[in-house]
Amino acid sequence: SRESLQQLDAAHHLHPFTDSGALHQKGARVIERGEGAYLWDLDGHRLLDGMAGLWCVNLGYGRQELIAAANAQLQQLPYYNLFFQTTHPPAAKLAATLAEILPGDLKHLFFTGSGSECNDTVVRMVRHFWAEQGRPERTVIISRHNAYHGSTLAGASLGGMKPMHRQGGLPLPDIVHIDQPYHFGEGQGVDPHAFGLERAQQLEQKILELGPERVAAFIGEPVQGAGGVIIPPDSYWPEIQRICKKYDILLVADEVICGFGRTGHWFASEHFGIVPDLLCMAKGITSGYIPLGAVAVSGRVANTLIAGGEFFHGFTYSGHPVACAVAQANIAVMQKEHIVERVHEDIGPYLQQRWASLGDHPLVGETRGLGLVAALELVADKTSLTRFPEEAGAGLVCREHSLDSGLIMRAVGDTMIISPPLIITREQVDELIEKARCALDLTLTTLSNRQGK
Ligand code: PLP
Repeated sequence: SRESLQQLDAAHHLHPFTDSGALHQKGARVIERGEGAYLWDLDGHRLLDGMAGLWCVNLGYGRQELIAAANAQLQQLPYYNLFFQTTHPPAAKLAATLAEILPGDLKHLFFTGSGSECNDTVVRMVRHFWAEQGRPERTVIISRHNAYHGSTLAGASLGGMKPMHRQGGLPLPDIVHIDQPYHFGEGQGVDPHAFGLERAQQLEQKILELGPERVAAFIGEPVQGAGGVIIPPDSYWPEIQRICKKYDILLVADEVICGFGRTGHWFASEHFGIVPDLLCMAKGITSGYIPLGAVAVSGRVANTLIAGGEFFHGFTYSGHPVACAVAQANIAVMQKEHIVERVHEDIGPYLQQRWASLGDHPLVGETRGLGLVAALELVADKTSLTRFPEEAGAGLVCREHSLDSGLIMRAVGDTMIISPPLIITREQVDELIEKARCALDLTLTTLSNRQGK
């Protein structure tokens, strides 16, 4: 029963990114099954999954092609490692497939088990690269405040999430941060183009402050996901690329969320017109059915790694054969069903147009989005765009009302976020918008009632 599962869970299970005390009081929602864009909990409630799990179930739940690929590979070869000069068909084939769909000259792949492991790999790889180039003093990696790059020590250090750094000891040495290109939150009143340039030029200031000879790389999510779907002004990424080129600093795109069609391109770097030296992917690579990550590297980096003797880094589950087989099937379905084109030309614009219609709601200060990822900002005053005080917890109130209305939306502070499966239909987009509006109405009532008291 639900109660017995909740009891077991409360007694033995420590959840990631969770206030366990609050969870135990309330009892965890038990998700039992999924199909397409929907999930069902153990009480039989149907939820439209507006977040595709954690931004990953791109092909939706229950895709038989992916399940069949996992089953077949489990029968054939459930595990073998890629250390000590061995390979296996799923890893070799997947590396070649990824090299075909990746932009620029990102033709070599290093497999990991997750997005966080990708970013740990990046730290090791760029330092190894510069050491092999005879520049071992190039160790500093520049990232951004409020970025999310994972939960391992290197991932959390690259990330700019203050609560993670407050746990102590982080960020690791030689990882520094500049400001994010968050126009609504930090650039109101400033022309977006000028704001994008100003935020990008902080990179140059930081490089000069540290000394260019010490800087190894810059890392950023093309669209910051967990930080609140922060879509930079168009001026931002080209300026970042220009600065990286000027000082010969490696550009790393963390496309763990943005990759695999989320923004209407295979990779969001294409949308923003940048060609990174390294590109991280995970999540949508298998539609989240099984853990897998990969770091793609450009010819220059690959050649140095190949010529540089042993690279002392890797994981037991690097290129796990079952995960690689599922990724291959995932990409095959995406290609057969023209999923990326559909996000770019049809369902993405439709969702964005419908999402923008929520902008007339009294609680909404801004809507924004790209492809099938979108956000809206809750505000206390629509004219002055004043935010709610933090203790009002407006985002959490909205998230709960959304769940009650049968829609999973995520709250980052008072920013509400959606990132639905890429197979979402127009009818389901309409349902999503209707439910989101219902959640906003209920949130307005709850917050007004509280204020009245
Ligand atoms: N990088 C980005 C941009 C992410 O959004 C995430 C996870 O949300 C990660 C890295 C970490 O990935 P994982 O949770 O698979 O370790």
